Amino acid sequence: LTDKIAALPPNANYFSLEFFPPKTAMGSSNLRARLDRMSRALRPLFVTVTWGAGGSTATKSLELAELCQRELGLTTCLHLTCTNMSKATVDKALADARVLGVRNILALRGDPPREEYKVEGGKEEGVEFEWAIDLVRYIRNVYGDYFCIGVAAYPEGHADESHPEGQSLEYDLPYLVEKVQAGADFIMTQLFFDINAYNKFETRLREHPSGAFKTLPIIPGMMPIQSYQMIKRTTKLSHAALPPDILSRLDSVKGDDEKVKKVGVEVVSELVESINTSKTPSSGPRGFHFYTLNLEKAVSFILERTNLIPPIPVEISSDESAVVDVSPE
Ligand code: FAD
Repeated sequence: LTDKIAALPPNANYFSLEFFPPKTAMGSSNLRARLDRMSRALRPLFVTVTWGAGGSTATKSLELAELCQRELGLTTCLHLTCTNMSKATVDKALADARVLGVRNILALRGDPPREEYKVEGGKEEGVEFEWAIDLVRYIRNVYGDYFCIGVAAYPEGHADESHPEGQSLEYDLPYLVEKVQAGADFIMTQLFFDINAYNKFETRLREHPSGAFKTLPIIPGMMPIQSYQMIKRTTKLSHAALPPDILSRLDSVKGDDEKVKKVGVEVVSELVESINTSKTPSSGPRGFHFYTLNLEKAVSFILERTNLIPPIPVEISSDESAVVDVSPE
């Protein structure tokens, strides 16, 4: 997908949509119809498919990746975690992804490693999946350049029990540099609502003395607001701040779900627009990643409002091979 990004004009925008594998057959068939509709109407540059920590959704994630990549013809990025899974599960996921024609992996740690998995598989071949970087290195060693690899980053710092000293970008930065130097091709961020924190994060990366992030695609993660409770819970779990002005706008309508969604579309659209206006030509096309939660409406409204939906490519005539872009009616 970095080739697709590189092929865009430097001032272009693009976006990706994230989906998770549904648990039931009914859920899968609903998602299939929705994905088909969304991919035609919204035309994402690529889609991503989540992976249940520890491999809990391995089969279903690969089925969804197959639907996206093979049946719908969408450039697909498979998330893959590496902790609390055997090396065999990681190997199978990568081999299956390759068979499906999936060329993009978001290499993640997942939950902190449990003791029994800390050296599983690693003893024989020097493989030890303790951090995401171990997966990045492993994929590069085994698959060379076959996969385009993305890694996660946290504008407000990553937080969990693996480093009880608390969350900070300061702490994460050296490890993020290492992940990129180990072969990551792009960065996708945790959701955030604090635009100042995001801007500081991106500037910090772009200006990092290592030069590791100078032209690397950094794709901010945007979370459409589906309900008041949900956004309070999600920001708490993700350790992402809800700035007071956004909170008070949501608080003022919290009893009315429709109004919350409407304010949510405004809030996220404003974030997108703000990031978009601060883009610099040297960092290339500006992308956005949307955590859709498999829902259609909020993300569609945001994309429409911020003019992120690309024009429909149309063939001029049967005997002319040129393809031009025209605006949708
Ligand atoms: P790492 O890069 O390993 O970093 C984890 C923490 O450890 C960071 O604070 C880092 O600074 C620190 N660290 C890294 N290396 C070292 C080291 N050598 N020594 C000490 N500290 C170190 N989870 C899922 O289960 N499934 C998904 O599909 C999924 N998708 C995601 C998509 C995105 C865009 C993001 C941002 C997160 C996603 N996650 C997913 C969550 C992710 O698995 C967790 O946030 C996890 O806790 C950290 O993963 P990581 O890849 O950032 O880990």
